[in-house]
Amino acid sequence: MSKDELTFQAEVRQFIAEHLSPELVRAGKNMTSVFADYDCALQWHKILNAKGWAAPAWPVEYGGTDWTQNQHQIFQRELKLGNAPALMALGIQMLGPILIKYGTEQQKQEYLPRIRSGEDIWCQGYSEPGAGSDLASLATRAERDGDHYVVNGSKIWTSFAHRANKIFCLVRTSTEGRPQAGISFLLADMDTPGISLSEIIGLDGTVEQCQVFFSDARIPVANLLGEENQGWSVAKYLLEFERGGHNYSIDHQKLLAKARAIAGRQYAHNGVCYLDDAAFSDNLAALEIDAMALEFTEQRIKASDAPGSLTSVAKLAGTELSQKISALASDALGAHNAPLQRDALEVDYADEVIGPDNAITTFAEYINMRAATIYGGSAEIQRNIIARAVLGLK
Ligand SMILES: Cc1cc2nc3c(=O)[nH]c(=O)nc-3n(C[C@H](O)[C@H](O)[C@H](O)COP(=O)(O)OP(=O)(O)OC[C@H]3O[C@@H](n4cnc5c(N)ncnc54)[C@H](O)[C@@H]3O)c2cc1C
Repeated sequence: MSKDELTFQAEVRQFIAEHLSPELVRAGKNMTSVFADYDCALQWHKILNAKGWAAPAWPVEYGGTDWTQNQHQIFQRELKLGNAPALMALGIQMLGPILIKYGTEQQKQEYLPRIRSGEDIWCQGYSEPGAGSDLASLATRAERDGDHYVVNGSKIWTSFAHRANKIFCLVRTSTEGRPQAGISFLLADMDTPGISLSEIIGLDGTVEQCQVFFSDARIPVANLLGEENQGWSVAKYLLEFERGGHNYSIDHQKLLAKARAIAGRQYAHNGVCYLDDAAFSDNLAALEIDAMALEFTEQRIKASDAPGSLTSVAKLAGTELSQKISALASDALGAHNAPLQRDALEVDYADEVIGPDNAITTFAEYINMRAATIYGGSAEIQRNIIARAVLGLK
């Protein structure tokens, strides 16, 4: 790091030390998926916004910063390694940049400040019961009626819809031509009459996803983002941010540190500490090398002006490596994977935990990590994109 970057790092560290309360740290530490405790995430969002750091990657004119790529990396690293709870990414990381590129001036003025301040929480209505990987086959219909679209259909796996007050969604406005050609991108209030949801309970017993239903929901035409029937381009642009916006290398550092800490305490069958077991430490070293290689690749991709399909490389390699590291940590934890300790993950939990206290997240993290190669486009789909767009294969 240059002298300026070291100064910047010190500034970020000082801010974190002064503003990140023990409760917020706990919320960050207890994360087992990309979502932190909702109230804590919102509290931290507001603290960052007051400093002008809630949406640092946005252009300055919209309340972002003029930081260099390295400064963004330093900022993200300090936040994650300091165990700050993650902010809800859908507004800041995904919709924000799309509004800036495709939104009308009125849409930018209306939505961007409310995303930055944490007043609006957005969810993403892309997938449907019959349209996931083959997203272009989506069937939720939007029919024009004066100044409104009348929307009917259903979206599924909509993350955090039960907390969101807004949804951005893909709807079919035409059945003519290629399926991609008849899709539009709509912004809607979750409390619009005709929009309802049911919660989906995950494997670990918690709710992170929902199914959202549209039944004659009237959404103003003014809420169209981009042109009618041109939503596919908007949707694909957003996916680049969904796939490329994540800092996998920092996650890997944290996961590796946890795996090491657990392996330093647990014992393999032959009585030696896992860290001194040749097979285990070989595996750990191989993953550490992969993580380092990926960190450089990720930095190159982030430094690119138009990363495009390269973000699929980061998503694929990043999620697969996270899964391998969490599986190794889980191996080292052994029988302590078994107790379900959901209460212990609450920020106000004060009782004892079963097993090492640095490992209460390990099994839930391992389970949740299975989803990372499904959401945002499955691993197979990323491989198809890489084959076609990056390697030029037919
Ligand atoms: C935790 C979680 C959160 C999610 N959050 C959201 C959200 O907020 N908003 C939203 O809109 N969606 C969300 N999703 C949905 C996600 O985007 C879809 O699950 C994903 O796109 C896969 O679609 P599908 O589930 O219909 O599986 P399918 O498309 O039916 O795929 C089934 C299997 O077939 C494989 N496959 C499919 N097509 C091909 C192909 N052409 N070549 C090779 N293999 C193929 C897939 O890789 C997969 O293994 C979420 C999913 C999860 C698990």
